[in-house]
Amino acid sequence: MFDCAIIGAGPAGVTAAIYLRRNYFKVAIIEKNCVGGQIINSPMIANYPGILPTDGASIAYTMSQQLENYSPHFISSEVIDIKKDDHFTVICKDEEVEAQTVLVCSGMHHKILGIKDEQKYLNKGISWCATCDGTLYKGKDVAVVGGGMSALETCIYLSRIVNKIYLIHRRDSFRCDEFLVNKFMSLNKVLKKTEICFNEEIVGMNGKDHLEQLVLKSGRTLNVDGLFECIGFEPNTNFLANLSLINQSGFIIVDKEGNSKVDGLYAAGDVISKDVRQITTAVGDATIAATSIIKRLRNVVF
Ligand SMILES: Cc1cc2nc3c(=O)[nH]c(=O)nc-3n(C[C@H](O)[C@H](O)[C@H](O)COP(=O)(O)OP(=O)(O)OC[C@H]3O[C@@H](n4cnc5c(N)ncnc54)[C@H](O)[C@@H]3O)c2cc1C
Repeated sequence: MFDCAIIGAGPAGVTAAIYLRRNYFKVAIIEKNCVGGQIINSPMIANYPGILPTDGASIAYTMSQQLENYSPHFISSEVIDIKKDDHFTVICKDEEVEAQTVLVCSGMHHKILGIKDEQKYLNKGISWCATCDGTLYKGKDVAVVGGGMSALETCIYLSRIVNKIYLIHRRDSFRCDEFLVNKFMSLNKVLKKTEICFNEEIVGMNGKDHLEQLVLKSGRTLNVDGLFECIGFEPNTNFLANLSLINQSGFIIVDKEGNSKVDGLYAAGDVISKDVRQITTAVGDATIAATSIIKRLRNVVF
């Protein structure tokens, strides 16, 4: 029996594992992909104190080394259900994990547009990660859809790789901080790679075996080899369907200790209902939740 089963090895999960292992608790950390979570897809992290601007993959690599140093029991699998009686049973695809407490740090995943023919081109022209797939489109024409931080970061990253970028946004202004908008605009003044298509939406996709063309709401067609979808995220909480602890949008509601409506099941990071989703906040939430779990495991009365 583990003292705590942590679900997800992004910034929140890794932080919690460090705190719990530094107090010698028996910890299992279950991750379906790789250590680092969403930051793997970030071309540049420049707002985390103590770390000079660097790519997300490098930080993820350091995180995995740090995690290894604290040697929690690492399980490479996907959690599909959680059951509770006098303790928790976390059901993974390949095994079951028994634990006194659970800390859900499962973060979020990319939304897709949900239009006809999109499924046909997933990973055949449609991507969510410029760092991972950008070089596939060297010298080619691509589109980026979205108007937030991730869309602009994607354009900035691709500007030095591709021939042309169509940035498609359904509104008439961007939804992210001024600093990033200014950075994007000044780079585009120099490189002239991005054509901004405000008040537009993608309504159709064409191509034989690979994406070749996008059809916009206005009727305009764009011939592109790739489309980077940066239109937001949904929480990874499907495996909690049997426990009623999520809000209407699927995020987990927790108290100030990180405890959910199911006592002993804690949550931290992007997966909880909150306003700001950043590495700093994920790490902060996880610190609070892990500290509460430590107190609980030591039977300290709050
Ligand atoms: C492109 C991009 C750029 C960003 N840039 C910045 C930035 O510059 N600065 C900043 O502060 N933040 C940035 N962010 C946001 C930041 O990455 C997140 O706020 C942070 O990663 C949240 O950490 P987390 O641990 O809560 O969740 P995540 O990072 O989402 O990690 C969750 C982990 O849980 C795993 N998981 C999910 N479901 C299951 C399951 N059922 N079973 C097992 N494992 C599961 C996932 O595989 C993942 O590894 C960026 C995000 C993106 C996508």
